[in-house]
Amino acid sequence: MAVFKPDNVEDLYEIGEVLGSGHFGEVRRVRERASGTSWAGKFMKIRKSACTHLGVERSCVEQEVEILHTLQHPNIVALKDVFESRAEVVLILEFVNGGELFDFIADKEMLLESEAIEFMKQILEGLGFMHSKNIGHFDLKPENIMLSDNVSQNPNIKLIDFGLAHHFQQDEEYRSSSGTPQYIAPEVIKKEPLSTTADMWSIGVITYILLSGLSPFQGETNEETLTNVLAMKYEFYAQFFSTTSSMAKDFIQKLLVENPNDRMTAEESLLHPWIKPITRKQAAKRNRSSINMKSFKRFNARRKWKMSYNMVRMCNRLVQLRLLCKGNADADPLQRQCESDVEDTESKPASLLRRRLSSSS
Ligand code: ATP
Repeated sequence: MAVFKPDNVEDLYEIGEVLGSGHFGEVRRVRERASGTSWAGKFMKIRKSACTHLGVERSCVEQEVEILHTLQHPNIVALKDVFESRAEVVLILEFVNGGELFDFIADKEMLLESEAIEFMKQILEGLGFMHSKNIGHFDLKPENIMLSDNVSQNPNIKLIDFGLAHHFQQDEEYRSSSGTPQYIAPEVIKKEPLSTTADMWSIGVITYILLSGLSPFQGETNEETLTNVLAMKYEFYAQFFSTTSSMAKDFIQKLLVENPNDRMTAEESLLHPWIKPITRKQAAKRNRSSINMKSFKRFNARRKWKMSYNMVRMCNRLVQLRLLCKGNADADPLQRQCESDVEDTESKPASLLRRRLSSSS
């Protein structure tokens, strides 16, 4: 079992405002007392007993930490330190100050494909590095693609949230059904053995959305979305893709491929002519094509609205759960353990719906 620092994090860091919330806790800005430097502290409640689904398994935190230690790359959030107290583990992460890539883009009036490609390239470079280390992210979605800052003209991409990531051992057969319905690959839904190429499917979905403001498989419900993914039911609707280059569509088509072995890898994607044009004509096409900004802004506004709505629902449920636990605490000692924990009461352990609350599906 990995040993994390037992020091009290507050002795070394001043705890600041909430930067974001996830399934198992909060991320807060923290200021290192010795240097004054800002970091992001990811506070995660640890599951206290096998008979509760509340909190995160310590082994999962250990895995996230091991993966972050392995992944030192300019486009991947860096891990500085890890602290552990009785009830929680705190990861001290590089402070990613630029917000989400999708919000940055939605603030613009117009974006050429060639400009969007600069971001895609960095995402693929981070991912290519991760995959070269036999690590799959398995939760790629707009919320997990952030920017180093929002003041420079060309901020750096930072991939975050390695809570579902997996480090493959040699010849290991790994299955997982966690993820966010809009972005997961068919093999995840079918509970087939996974490889790092499942991430490349998500890149196909993210690129499709980025260019058109439409989500290729989104249904009215999560179940419908999953059915659409399995049926490979997507099209390039003319009204949404009128400003998109044919190379961009080809790029997406080579990622939204049912058989994971036939999908482009991150390395191959970086060599696709949409990303790395070979001829002048190809390069020029990318400067004449643009993303569908009106539709993209609409998609992003809806996504943010759903995230806020889900957050309020999660908070309400937390209050209800706490009241319930307090009421029963005298009767059942096991129940007492959930007083400091939070969980979506609808979620099944390690199910596809695990991340539903934080997702925009
Ligand atoms: P989820 O349940 O959504 O997967 P999680 O519990 O695994 O979440 P993260 O996704 O890592 O937590 O973080 C939650 C939110 O906190 C992010 O969406 C982001 O807004 C913010 N955040 C995370 N890491 C950082 C960071 N290093 N710098 C700034 N903000 C961050």
